[in-house]
Amino acid sequence: MLNFLKKNVAKHVLNLVPYASARRLFAASEQDNNAQTPIWLNANEAPKAHDFTLDTSLYNRYPDCQPDAVITAYAEYAGVAKNQVLVSRGADEGIELLIRAFCNPEQDSILICPPTYGMYAISANTCNVEVKNVPLIHRNEDSENTENRDFGSFQLDVPKIVAQDDSVKLVFICAPNNPTGTLPATADIEAIINHYADQALVVIDEAYIEFADATHTAWLDRYSNVVILRTLSKAFALAGLRCGFTLAHPEVITTLLKVIAPYPLSAPVADVAAQALSIAGLARMRAQVSEIIAEQTPLAQSITQLGDIELVGAQYGNFILFRTSHKDALMQYLVDHKVFIRDQSKQIQLANCLRISTGDAAQNARLLALMTQFYNLQETTAL
Ligand SMILES: *Cc1c(COP(=O)(O)O)cnc(C)c1O
Repeated sequence: MLNFLKKNVAKHVLNLVPYASARRLFAASEQDNNAQTPIWLNANEAPKAHDFTLDTSLYNRYPDCQPDAVITAYAEYAGVAKNQVLVSRGADEGIELLIRAFCNPEQDSILICPPTYGMYAISANTCNVEVKNVPLIHRNEDSENTENRDFGSFQLDVPKIVAQDDSVKLVFICAPNNPTGTLPATADIEAIINHYADQALVVIDEAYIEFADATHTAWLDRYSNVVILRTLSKAFALAGLRCGFTLAHPEVITTLLKVIAPYPLSAPVADVAAQALSIAGLARMRAQVSEIIAEQTPLAQSITQLGDIELVGAQYGNFILFRTSHKDALMQYLVDHKVFIRDQSKQIQLANCLRISTGDAAQNARLLALMTQFYNLQETTAL
């Protein structure tokens, strides 16, 4: 490393490692001009892109910071007031804005419940804010919460979450949780919101909410310390757009507007987002979500018939998490055949776990065929 850098890069930045996004991990293989089209099932993206039109007539002008067409359409879609909505460069920017606005560096902390989405900790690290980890727990099936959902696994450890010191300013709860696909029990989230009423914001990350039909937006009017994150990257099939939303009390939104960039969304992004949120756009999104959900249950069922595969968590998102003792060989076999899924085995409690993003019928069929071949080969070699 350059001497200049060793001496001059901010201390908390010096040892950071760039986020190993699904895209960064496999970008190289994409360049390869092999006849086989790669199948991307590693970033919970939608299988198909949609068409949009661009109005370039105002591209000589700076865009609005919070384009009204986008805010109005999203407020309507989410069933909240316009002043409860902030639009940003993906939900990821929403995470960072929250940390920058509510945490004093080297003093405050955020609380996360691993295994969960990686960006909460990454953003906190880049802001020199401490991360407190309270791992998810497993409760007996017959405990209080049943409500017809899998409330047994990967649940919030409420007693530990409420026993933290008062440095905690943000509690991140991912619902449905990535990568376990589980939904934290509603009563648990509400207990945490109540406990932290005067101290911290409880941020409910609903990136996958369209697949689960279990939104918590009704709490926005009841609790001023509730924040909800949303995105166009998953159900809306617009990961490439970089457009996300933060829903919160109007004064929380005003606070976030103090730290957001003057032009967070480029004009074409705002244009496309408004079209995605039109009546036709919403109908298209809902149709694709139904298709994915219809594909997912049989796919999850089918893979459990293979080798030693065991499903982990639940499938309230558009992805399936599973465990296999052959995880490295299976990953390699799929990569060799240009099918990309995601290794989650580095996360706490997820040893030997891989995550599949559910694709369309053709993609899933190819994945299943390859996985079947792989486990047949394992059996043959074992004999
Ligand atoms: C994908 C994802 C996001 C990121 O959304 P962007 O809008 O693409 O930044 C946020 N939270 C979770 C849990 C995700 O899986």
